Amino acid sequence: MSDFDPIVIVGSGLAGYGVARELRRLDKATPLVIVSRDHAGFYSKPMLSNALAGNKTAATLVMKPAEKMAAELGATVRTHSRVQRIDTAAKTIALADGETLAYRDLVLALGADPIRLALDGDAADAVLSVNDLDDYARFAERLEGATRVAVLGAGLIGCEFANDLLARGVTPTVIDLAERPLSRLLPEAASARLRERLEAAGVRFRFGVAASRIDRSAGGLRVTLSDGSTIAADLVLSAIGLRPRTALAQAAGLAVQRGVVVDRWLATSAPNVYAVGDCAEVEGHSLPFVLPLMQQGRALAATLAGTPTPVVYPAMPVTVKTPACPTVVCPPPVDAAGTWRTDLSDDGCAAHFHADDGALLGFAVLGSATTQKQSLAARVAGLIA
Ligand SMILES: Cc1cc2nc3c(=O)[nH]c(=O)nc-3n(C[C@H](O)[C@H](O)[C@H](O)COP(=O)(O)OP(=O)(O)OC[C@H]3O[C@@H](n4cnc5c(N)ncnc54)[C@H](O)[C@@H]3O)c2cc1C
Repeated sequence: MSDFDPIVIVGSGLAGYGVARELRRLDKATPLVIVSRDHAGFYSKPMLSNALAGNKTAATLVMKPAEKMAAELGATVRTHSRVQRIDTAAKTIALADGETLAYRDLVLALGADPIRLALDGDAADAVLSVNDLDDYARFAERLEGATRVAVLGAGLIGCEFANDLLARGVTPTVIDLAERPLSRLLPEAASARLRERLEAAGVRFRFGVAASRIDRSAGGLRVTLSDGSTIAADLVLSAIGLRPRTALAQAAGLAVQRGVVVDRWLATSAPNVYAVGDCAEVEGHSLPFVLPLMQQGRALAATLAGTPTPVVYPAMPVTVKTPACPTVVCPPPVDAAGTWRTDLSDDGCAAHFHADDGALLGFAVLGSATTQKQSLAARVAGLIA
């Protein structure tokens, strides 16, 4: 290792490119290499779950190809290069083609894998999930001629896809073991409002049941639920959650819990190795959203440019892209003590989560109440100040 070795970023998602962009604002000289196992085109992943309504294809979702990103960032972008091993003592990474790259600093921006349900049936392997552009291309192709889609999971991404499928004239049936949509993010009355609006738009729900098997049938696929009932579908889309990609870090001996463990400086347990985005767990917080990774990118870029800078998490509301019921949620910290208070009106719903001392710890606003999102966010204390 020498000081002339590059900063190497593994991953070309919003987190990896986010760090690179912020770094180049502060430091135009240090050699920068971005290694990605995919095409490394720049795209906005959140758009995957509202791309059907916008008639987007995987190709039109790419905002900038890898070559353009490389030119803009003054970086080398290695596409279709999978990192297989990290040697933290030698400060090198090994690529799948056998090449070894030395790094001054290494940034892991590896993302997260969709969780797969253990399903029985002869079509269990036909279940799709959409977590990157290639997945979206496959999904869009399989959607041709489909009229019935079973969506596994009524969380944020499941509800967004269900709403988006309506734009294609498809009837989505969303299946979840919970009793209501976004059950981990919204209080009951807000969930009920979201459900009502999505159902009015054409989404069907099956709550309190899980899919147990998927089989081929004469008309397409048959989804068997845990209560023994069945649903006919042309396509099954799984959206039950993501698991941070930690295997590479774990094999290199880095501390790993739910995600790759980092401190407020985004530093892992190995010297000169950092982690950001969906793969990282920052002081116990695993937040797979865009605003946290932007905060991380700014802080880490400053550190890499010579000014050690801890990440700060202000209140970071998440917009749920369900046009049938616009929703913004800023969930209270996990395990926070307090109570939800919900005000419903004909065209909106505002829910506030207060601690016992009256402090506002989180909120959810739906419909016309979404206009309050900024003023509410300003009143919520951040997770990491
Ligand atoms: C459908 C959908 C909708 C979403 N909507 C929203 C939203 O509305 N708002 C919001 O805040 N968040 C949303 N999110 C979450 C948000 O998109 C993610 O938090 C964010 O994009 C994660 O970026 P990332 O760079 O950490 O991971 P990724 O974009 O997954 O990037 C990981 C990168 O690592 C590379 N990689 C992995 N392993 C290796 C390896 N071994 N070698 C080389 N390269 C490797 C991959 O090729 C990829 O380039 C959504 C997510 C999904 C799936």
